[in-house]
Amino acid sequence: MITVAEAERLINNHTLELESEEVSLNDAGGRVLKETICADRDFPPFDRVTMDGIAINFDHWKQGGADFLIQGTQAAGSPPLQIDGQSQAIEVMTGAVLPEGTDTIIPYEVIEINGELQRTATLQVTPKKGQNVHKQGSDRHKGAVLVNPGSILGAPEIGVAATVGKSTLKVIKPPKVAIISTGDELVSIDETPLPHQIRSSNAVTLSNALDQWKIQPDLYHIVDDLEGTTNELQGLLENYQILILSGGVSMGKFDFVPQALDKLQVNKQFHKIRQRPGKPFWFGSHGSGTLVFAFPGNPVSSFMCFNRYLKPWMNKLFELPKSLLMAELTQDIEFERDFTYFAQVKVKLDQGKILACPVEGHGSGDLANLVDADGFLELPREKSFFSKGEMFPLYAYRNLRS
Ligand code: AMP
Ligand code: MG
Repeated sequence: MITVAEAERLINNHTLELESEEVSLNDAGGRVLKETICADRDFPPFDRVTMDGIAINFDHWKQGGADFLIQGTQAAGSPPLQIDGQSQAIEVMTGAVLPEGTDTIIPYEVIEINGELQRTATLQVTPKKGQNVHKQGSDRHKGAVLVNPGSILGAPEIGVAATVGKSTLKVIKPPKVAIISTGDELVSIDETPLPHQIRSSNAVTLSNALDQWKIQPDLYHIVDDLEGTTNELQGLLENYQILILSGGVSMGKFDFVPQALDKLQVNKQFHKIRQRPGKPFWFGSHGSGTLVFAFPGNPVSSFMCFNRYLKPWMNKLFELPKSLLMAELTQDIEFERDFTYFAQVKVKLDQGKILACPVEGHGSGDLANLVDADGFLELPREKSFFSKGEMFPLYAYRNLRS
């Protein structure tokens, strides 16, 4: 039986070639960018007025002119007007182009306007040259890189793409993934199970978790029969880049998955890890390049294996930065030596520190307990006593909250 670190290393020896695809901005949220977004023009593209008020020539004021004759009005979206002389001003609205001959904006709040046919503005404050003008190119110059390849597209990146006129973006295309539930006892979620049956929940749990990379897996169910399992897996190995199985990898009489994968010449990298829960995890690679993650069927085990192994591997595949969180145990835990223990915990942020409070549950079948926890602490197999106050790696499946 191998250790957690060895299992991780063996999985990390494998990778997949992911293609790119073009998606519309509406579908781009959460995707990983595969192109460079550059400024198609200066940011801002013209000297932009940032307050509603009047545009003046500062030199006129400096030479003692406190009054300005209002010559016209310029709204956002209009081509720039021009003042006829230094003592003239133009009323301007936020977002308008700075009128030609002017350089300074005085907000309405600090001017007094008098007259009807001939309107005159009097300044009530001392202006600063260039105030309230967002100068052309002061944020970014035309051609500047705005978003780099590898960025995760969030609202700001999508907004920037929109402003440079890109209605589609090149992003990483998610791999083709199949999730295969195994077990004669499983019925679909919309059926009423007989007393000896259970609804199949693992596939939807894992499918939902794959949404973080926008992977849309196809779901399958196979019964506990060697021939049927082999036939079904044969077809899936040809059509998918990743197979995620749940169940059928333990020591039971009807656990046929390792045997079927062996018959199909999927190259076993390991079977069983010195860990609790999730010990029977089987991982292998097929000559076609397809990778097979065969998790134990117990819901906590399969979800834990997903979070500890598949999630970091998938993040690497999507070129996302590595992040290892450490959390402080809030209570002593005792666990037998020689097995890494993944302790379910509820986490709390306390002045920047992550506190991990054990929520024990009733073992690897207790999926309701996953709702109470936020993640798992990895407690090393070299020790059997883990003290309150010690720090351990945290595999969180929820965002941290304070
Ligand atoms: P196995 O790994 O096949 O021995 O299954 C271990 C336990 O997990 C059994 O109690 C199964 O009924 C349960 N189980 C297996 N597959 C699923 C599934 N897709 N959804 C929920 N529970 C499952
Ligand atoms: Mg089973």
